[in-house]
Amino acid sequence: MMYLGRIVELARADELINNPIHPYTKALIAAIPEPDPSNRLKIREVRIKGEITSAVKLPRGCRFRPRCIAYDETPDIQSQCEAEEPPLVEVEPGHYAACWLTAKK
Ligand code: SF4
Repeated sequence: MMYLGRIVELARADELINNPIHPYTKALIAAIPEPDPSNRLKIREVRIKGEITSAVKLPRGCRFRPRCIAYDETPDIQSQCEAEEPPLVEVEPGHYAACWLTAKK
């Protein structure tokens, strides 16, 4: 999964779809339309805000920060999100994510 030219999550396709870790991946998976008509009234929350950030004027720190609801909801990591781009780290075997929420577990 890429966001503004950077890999933010890397895993096998089935793992990425069934167990997304990065807030951007979670939002994209939640936005997939429901193909089963009997489930069409189920509402899934798409947790993302704002518009895509300009690729020529990236924010300092994490480039997903202006759209990240997890950032808003997690005050104890906000200064790190603002200061540094999170590294892509292996969170589970073969599953990598670039997010301060999971980088230090
Ligand atoms: S590093 Fe911070 S701003 Fe970036 S995706 Fe993770 S929680 Fe959101």
